[in-house]
Amino acid sequence: MKVTDAAEIGGGPLWVGTSWKMNKGLAETRQYVRGLSEHVARAGLAGVQPFVIPSFTAIAAARDELGAHSPVLLGAQNAHWEDGGAWTGEVSVAQIKDAGAQLVEIGHSERREHFGETVATTRLKVAAALRHGLVPLLCIGESAEVKRAGESSRFILEQAAGALDGLTAEQMARVLVAYEPVWAIGESGRPATVEELQQPFADLGREYGDATRGLLYGGSVNLDNAVDLLGIDHVSGLFVGRAAWTLPGYLRLLELAAAHPKAVAAATA
Ligand code: PEP
Repeated sequence: MKVTDAAEIGGGPLWVGTSWKMNKGLAETRQYVRGLSEHVARAGLAGVQPFVIPSFTAIAAARDELGAHSPVLLGAQNAHWEDGGAWTGEVSVAQIKDAGAQLVEIGHSERREHFGETVATTRLKVAAALRHGLVPLLCIGESAEVKRAGESSRFILEQAAGALDGLTAEQMARVLVAYEPVWAIGESGRPATVEELQQPFADLGREYGDATRGLLYGGSVNLDNAVDLLGIDHVSGLFVGRAAWTLPGYLRLLELAAAHPKAVAAATA
C-alpha cells in the first residue's frame, strides 16, 4: 500500500495526537481507528491535524483501517536509527514506514528513563526519520528536580538542540517538538498550570517556533485544561495520553481544538 507522504498532509494549524503506550491489541486498535476515521470523514478536520500512535504490533492494522490516504496521521512510539541489521528486539524507521507509519515519536521521557535513550540517540533517530520521509515527533521535558532548581528552560533547550542542531531549514520544518514535563506526565504527574508553561514555551518558541512544523504540549492534558493549554503563546497542539485513550475522549479533544480561535482563524483565512 503506497501511503500518502506526511509532508502532503495538511498539518494543523493545531495538532492533537495521542500515544497509547503499551496498551490496546489489534481488535481495540481497529475499533478505535475505524471510529476515528468515520468521524473525520463525517465531521471534517477544520484546522486540526489528528495523529494516533499505537503499539508497533498494531500499526499495520491501524493503517488497514485508515486506508492509504487518510487525513489522520499514523505513528510509532519509537524506532531504531539503522535501517536493519543485528539489533535484536528493535524496529527500524524503514520497518515502521513499511507497516504504514508516517510519524515517529522520539525521546519520550519513559524511553529516556527506562531504556537508555540519550540525546545522542534522539539525534540519530531524528536523522533516520527524516531520511525516510517520516515526521519526527521529538519529546523533551525536565524532571521535577530540574524544575525546582529553576533550570527547566536550559534543560529542554539543551535536549532540543542536541537532537536538532545541524538540520537544514527544510529538515527542521518537518519536525514536531512536544514539550512534556516529566512531572506532569502520567498517573503520578500533576497537571501543569498555564503560568508554569509560559516561560518554557516562550523560550522554545523563540528557538523553534517558526523553524519547526509545530510545538506541542503534553502531560495530563484533559477536557478541562485543553482549551487553556492551546491558548498559550507558541503552543500549536496537544500530545495526549490517558484522556484520549477512549475514542469519545479523543473526539471531544478534537472538537475543542477545532473550536479554538487558533484553529478557527486558520480555517476561515
Ligand atoms: C505522556 O505520557 O506523554 C502523556 C502525555 O501522558 P498523559 O496525557 O496521560 O499525562
